[in-house]
This record gives sequence, C-alpha cells and structure tokens, in this order.
Amino acid sequence: MRVAVTGGGGFLGSHLCEALLRRGDAVVCLDNLSTGRPENIAHLRKYPEFEFIHADVSVTAEVPGPVDAVAHLASPASPPDYLRLPLQTLAVGSRGTENALELARLNNARFLLASTSEVYGDPLVHPQDEDYWGNVNPVGPRSVYDEAKRYAEAVSLAYRRSLGVDVGIIRIFNTYGPRMRRLDGRVVSSFIAQALDGDPLTIYGDGKQTRSFCYVSDLIRGLIAMLDSSETGPFNLGNPEEWTVSDLAELVLDITGSDSEIQYHPLPVDDPVRRRPDITRVGEHLGWHPEVPVEDGVRRTVEWFSVRACEATTEER
Ligand code: NAD
Ligand code: UDP
Repeated sequence: MRVAVTGGGGFLGSHLCEALLRRGDAVVCLDNLSTGRPENIAHLRKYPEFEFIHADVSVTAEVPGPVDAVAHLASPASPPDYLRLPLQTLAVGSRGTENALELARLNNARFLLASTSEVYGDPLVHPQDEDYWGNVNPVGPRSVYDEAKRYAEAVSLAYRRSLGVDVGIIRIFNTYGPRMRRLDGRVVSSFIAQALDGDPLTIYGDGKQTRSFCYVSDLIRGLIAMLDSSETGPFNLGNPEEWTVSDLAELVLDITGSDSEIQYHPLPVDDPVRRRPDITRVGEHLGWHPEVPVEDGVRRTVEWFSVRACEATTEER
C-alpha cells in the first residue's frame, strides 16, 4: 500500500509511519511541523519508500501519484497546544479533514480519521461506549478541539454516506510513550520530565480526576488494524486501566526514584472528571486489546526520556 499520513511528523503519526514502513508499505508524510518535530521522522528518511511533504493540510492535502489509504492524524492534540492554536485547530479539524477526505475520494482510498475521547467531553456516562453522544461545552476553551473533532467525524461520515468514501473512525483515549515532547503539557510527559529534572510535579486540581492511559505500541497496532479493515466504527481505542492523576504522579516518582515534590495548581476550565473507554466493540470487530500495562509503558517511556535528557538541548528540555 501507499499510505498518506497527515500529521506524520508528530508523536503518534511518526510511530504510525514507522510501523507501516517496517511492514513494507510506502508512506507519504504530510505535516506542517506546528507541533511535530523533524527528529521524529529523521530516522525514516533511510527508507526509499518514505516521502515527506511540508504542507498545511488545512490549505492543501494534495499528493502526487496514487494513494491506497489516507490516515488523517494532523491536529494539535495536547490541551496547551490546542489552546495556544485555537483557530489552527478548528481549521485542521474542518478544512484539513475535508482536504484529506478529498485526497481519499480522488484515489478511491481507505480513509482513517484519528478522532478522540474528547468527543465525549466531560462524560456523564461511565465508562464511555460509542453510543454515548457526549457532554461537550460548545463555547468553552476546549471546544476548539472537541467540536473540530466532532465536525471531523460528521463530515467523514457524510463523505461515506453521500460519496461512498471508505471511512473508518477511531476515538483515541490518552496515549503516551517515546517521542512525546517534554514540554507538550500532557500529563505523562510532564510528570516524567519534571521527575527527571527534580522539578515539582504539577497536579491540576485535587488529582482525583481519572484518565485511562494507553501505551503507543498498542495504539498503533489498533490504528493499523482499522486501516486494514473496512469497518466504519467509530471505535474507542484506549487502555481501560483507569488511574487518578495523583496515582500516576506516585507511579512516576516510584519508577524514576525522584524526590520531586508535588505542587497543586488550578484545574483547567472544563477538564473532564473521569475517562475510561468501553472497548467491547473494537475487541469484537478488530480483535484488538491493549497488551502493555501502565507500569511497563511508563517505565519504557521513562527510559526513553532519560536517554534524551542527556542528548537534548536546553531549549528542548
Ligand atoms: P502531535 O501534536 O504530536 O501530532 C500532531 C501532528 O499534526 C504534528 O506533527 C503537527 O505538526 C501536525 N499538524 C497539526 N496541524 C497541521 C496542519 N494544519 N497541517 C499539517 N500538519 C499538521 O499529537 P499526537 O498525540 O501525535 O496526535 C495525533 C492525532 O491523534 C491528533 O489528531 C490527535 O487529535 C489524535 N489523538 C491523540 C491522542 C493522544 O493521547 N496522543 C488522544 C486522542 C486523539
Ligand atoms: N494534568 C495535570 N498536570 C499536568 C498536566 C495535566 O494534573 O502537568 C491533568 C489534566 O488536568 C487532566 C489530566 O492530567 O486532568 C490529563 O491531562 P492531559 O493533558 O494528558 O490530557 P487530556 O486527557 O485532558 O486531554
């Protein structure tokens, strides 16, 4: 297959590009590197089947030559990133998704949308299954991301229903692992970087809010299974192991052996209280289940961050 991966220079996108190349696919990575990094894909340049196109997919997602599948991952994903880039986030969720869908339509290609658990907002149903319609504040600061992804799902399904595009939708729950930016503001990378640097771990609110954390290799396996299938979804993809933010902080302190303090900060506006995916449907349709327990995944991520701490420039750190 020749797969176009939008957002392929980011955390998840670069792992997806790598996994596809390793199994023998050709990959065209489209990215404007707004939150991605050239070093995420530097090692992929050795593959002759890897191409990089520097493009803002909200403007154009054109790819010369035939394409068999389009995986649309381009979008800021960390809350501090999308709050810093509100208009760009809305643009890539709307126009960017339409451009990526057009690329799939013109090539009669499979289309995979990387949606998010944020479509459930601050959920009133627990755990969240795919039939739940969500509880999103449409005018709050997070709406630039939540509503953009909800629109992305709607327009993708409209392309399927009206134009016959082979669309599949995955709703990703909090995923972590190597290649997250130290300063991207998400909780796992922040706690690990803070613990390794001996800085206080910043817990927002009382730390009793929960998230379900999925290791990147599990997530990528699920994305590829969806890409290879003809399922529409939407399917939740995440590890249902539910952790409070405080327990995660303790785990990171344990694994790193750090004596960093805990510092409490105000909870961001509309920060969801509880998150856990019901993954029955993706298990039934794709046979997917997560394999990496949170303790192992955090340990692997700590190892990766530790090595990088020696290599990274002060600015990167
Ligand atoms: P990331 O920020 O590391 O990667 C996003 C990539 O998209 C970056 O390389 C960025 O430069 C690129 N991008 C952004 N806007 C673009 C544009 N207009 N044109 C071209 N490229 C653009 O984030 P990530 O964690 O790798 O997330 C990837 C996708 O998965 C996103 O769509 C995100 O919404 C979704 N997702 C991720 C998580 C998670 O926990 N990691 C959870 C839910 C959903
Ligand atoms: N969080 C925190 N400290 C941080 C970063 C995040 O306590 O330094 C909290 C955040 O408020 C949220 C949870 O951790 O309740 C998960 O945040 P993240 O940004 O990883 O992703 P989200 O699941 O909210 O998109």
